Amino acid sequence: MKNTKELKTWVNNFGLEHPLVIAGPCSAETEDQVVKIAGELKNTDATVLRAGIWKPRTRPGNFEGVGALGLKWMQTAKQETGMLTATEVANPNHVDLALKHDIDILWLGARTTVSPFIVQEIADALKGTDKIVLVKNPVNPDLPLWLGAIERLHTSNIEKLGAIHRGFSTYEKTRYRNNPNWQIPIELQNRFPDLPLICDPSHIAGRRDIIFDICQTALDLNFDGLMVETHYDPDNAWSDAKQQITPKTLIQMMVDLKIRKATDTEAEYRNSLNTLRTQIDVVDHQLIEMLGKRMKVADSIGELKKTKNVAILQTKRWNEILGKMILEGESQNLSEEFVLKIFKAIHQESINHQEKIMQS
Ligand code: PEP
Ligand code: MN
Repeated sequence: MKNTKELKTWVNNFGLEHPLVIAGPCSAETEDQVVKIAGELKNTDATVLRAGIWKPRTRPGNFEGVGALGLKWMQTAKQETGMLTATEVANPNHVDLALKHDIDILWLGARTTVSPFIVQEIADALKGTDKIVLVKNPVNPDLPLWLGAIERLHTSNIEKLGAIHRGFSTYEKTRYRNNPNWQIPIELQNRFPDLPLICDPSHIAGRRDIIFDICQTALDLNFDGLMVETHYDPDNAWSDAKQQITPKTLIQMMVDLKIRKATDTEAEYRNSLNTLRTQIDVVDHQLIEMLGKRMKVADSIGELKKTKNVAILQTKRWNEILGKMILEGESQNLSEEFVLKIFKAIHQESINHQEKIMQS
C-alpha cells in the first residue's frame, strides 16, 4: 500500500478527545433490543453502534442472525440517537443490503478475511464507496493474509480503511478465547503507522473479567479505538453471552481507562516511550511463557531418562545445542557471550528440573 497518509483522516475527523468507541450487541436480536441498547449508549463515549445482522457461526445450529430485517432496526436506532451504525458483511449481497440501509461502517469478519476470493468479491462490491470499511484479522495468526485483505480494499479505491484486532484461534485453550498475539498488530502498526487500528477486546477475551485489561493494553499500544460487545442483559444474549458487558460497565470502563494523548513534544516523547515499553512487556511475557514450555519438555525428557536409567547430562547433545544457538544468535544480532550466558542458565534450570524428577 502506498500513500497511506490520508488513512487516519477519517478517525481524526470525528474530532474525539478519546479513542473511537464502537459498542453494541454481538447480534441484533429484536427491534426493541437494538433501540434500547442504542438509547443506553447515546451521549456516552460510544460514537458508533455495532450489531451483527448475519452471524458467521463456527458450527451450525447456533443463532445465525436476524438477517436484513435488522438493518431497519439499525436505521431506527440511528435516527433516535444520532449514533453511526456498523455491521459485518460477508458477501456482496450483504454489502448491497447494508449500503441500501445506509450503514456507516462495514466490517469484514475474521472468517471472511481468511478467504482472498470472498474478500475480492466484497472489495469489488464496495468499489469506490466512501463508507468506512474495517478488516478484522483472519482467525489464524497470519499478518500477510490480513494485509492482503486490506490491500484488496485499498485497490478498490476505498479510502476510509481500518483494521480490527480480535485475536487469533489456537488449538490449546488459554485464558483467552482468541490469543492476542500482540506482536502481530504491533508489526502491522510498524509497517503502516497511518492505518487506524481498533481493538476488539470482547472476541479476544471471550469473558467479561479481562476486557478492561485488554483495552488498557491496546490503548498503551496506541490503538485508535475499541469495539466492545455491549448488551443490557449480557447473560441472556443470543450469541457471545459470556463476553458482553452492559452499557453501564462500558461507561465506567471509559472513565477508568488511562488514555494517553500526545499534545506537546514532551507528551509525545512519553507516549512513544510508553508504547515501546508496552511492546517490551509483550515480548517479556512471551519469553517467560516459552521458557515455561521448554522446562515442561525438559520434565518429559527427565521422565524418559528415569525409566531408562540414563544420566541427566548428555554433553554431546548439549554442545550441539550451544553451537546451533550461537549461530542463530548471530543472525539476530546477539553476541556469542550473551547467547552462552542465557543458554547456560537455561540448561542449569533444565538440569534442576530433571534432577527433581529423578529423585521423585
Ligand atoms: C463479531 O464481531 O460478532 C464476530 C463474529 O467477530 P469475529 O469475526 O471477530 O469472530
Ligand atoms: Mn460476537
